[in-house]
Amino acid sequence: MIHSYATHAGTDCVVVGASFAGLACATALARAGMRVTVLEKKADPGEKLHTTGIIVKDAIDQVTLLDGLPSELVHRITGVRLYAPNLRHVDLAAPGYYFLATDTPNVMRWLAGQAEHSGAHIAYRKSFAQAERTQSGFDLGDLGTTRFLVGADGPGSRVAEALGLGQSAKFLFGLEYEYEGVEIAEPDKLHCFIDGRLAPGYIAWVVAGVGIVQVGLARRIRGDQSVANAAMSSFLEKIAPLFDFRLRRPASVRAGMIPCGGVVRPVAAKRVLLVGDAAGMVSPVTAGGIHTALKHGLAAGHAVVDYLNGKSEDPSGWFVRSYPRYRVKRLLRFLFDHFQSDLFFNLLLSTKPMRMAAGIVYFHHKGVFIPPSPAATDHANTQIAEDKTPR
Ligand SMILES: Cc1cc2nc3c(=O)[nH]c(=O)nc-3n(C[C@H](O)[C@H](O)[C@H](O)COP(=O)(O)OP(=O)(O)OC[C@H]3O[C@@H](n4cnc5c(N)ncnc54)[C@H](O)[C@@H]3O)c2cc1C
Repeated sequence: MIHSYATHAGTDCVVVGASFAGLACATALARAGMRVTVLEKKADPGEKLHTTGIIVKDAIDQVTLLDGLPSELVHRITGVRLYAPNLRHVDLAAPGYYFLATDTPNVMRWLAGQAEHSGAHIAYRKSFAQAERTQSGFDLGDLGTTRFLVGADGPGSRVAEALGLGQSAKFLFGLEYEYEGVEIAEPDKLHCFIDGRLAPGYIAWVVAGVGIVQVGLARRIRGDQSVANAAMSSFLEKIAPLFDFRLRRPASVRAGMIPCGGVVRPVAAKRVLLVGDAAGMVSPVTAGGIHTALKHGLAAGHAVVDYLNGKSEDPSGWFVRSYPRYRVKRLLRFLFDHFQSDLFFNLLLSTKPMRMAAGIVYFHHKGVFIPPSPAATDHANTQIAEDKTPR
């Protein structure tokens, strides 16, 4: 019971949101012996997800929390097939580099299990609404008292609103359909589609997840979800010669806002900080936020531990300076927002600068091109000339 856990004992840290950032933060706090309560408004951390759930290799390498992630919850994706608006494609890959498509609901339950095993208390069906500052922290009313508060409650953070912190103002809207009982060609590739009409400001994608195929798109906010639904119908029509889902009903839909304007300001104040999407910590170019949510969630937990143990100053000053600034990526987003042109991409996808840019975006400077296999050249789709330059 959250009431007895937090109110009577008082807790060292309340973390709002049991997703990537909040669970990483809570695990770090609990492992250090702190009394930590995670407030989660949902009944189950795996329900109503709004993410494709792809985890980049850098996260696997750098985030120790993912050590031991069960192999049955992931599917290794070893390359990207990037389609120009005219559906010509180029294959991008780098030796040893991969992404993990995930059984995201069960990955989330596994992360919650890690936090609980470490000693964190997760209070489900508990929505954070308000916090009153006290001499030594915050009073959350029925939800108890705490010495420190972490807002890991995603885009449109209620913690940010209640405590007067910054909120993201710039978003993409992502919509994804899950299909069961289907297989696709080239299931070890992430199929990415550039189309300035259907996915302005971002891309659309098809990826073989774990036991499902995920088909999605993200676009600059324009209109409501019905606009995105219409774009998705057009996208399904467009890709039908390659992947035909038109007669299938999605088993489930994932949808949500993706902050893409960089880290909010202020992102912290005395005894409170934001992390993950609440902090706007999503790459403005790739729209990936899981790696940063996990990495900075863990780091935030450690920083709060040091502060509460009297070993450092309040993290609202020094710690949040370690947050990503996305200077180059924000510039790329500006360029993409203002100069995206299907004609440009159709023409440029076969030129070296464009291939390099794609490689940087997807493979963090590790991008190289895989020479076409005979099977690929048989494909009805025209293979773009490949760069065979050795690395
Ligand atoms: C369609 C889509 C696809 C995406 N695909 C990818 C991808 O493949 N790879 C990638 O790296 N990134 C992806 N992203 C981005 C990624 O999902 C986010 O960056 C990531 O989920 C951020 O994690 P988080 O823990 O900060 O917040 P969230 O995942 O948003 O979690 C916030 C949590 O807080 C809870 N909560 C909210 N308000 C309250 C409240 N008042 N009280 C209690 N609990 C509350 C919510 O229920 C939720 O559990 C995608 C985003 C979208 C929308």
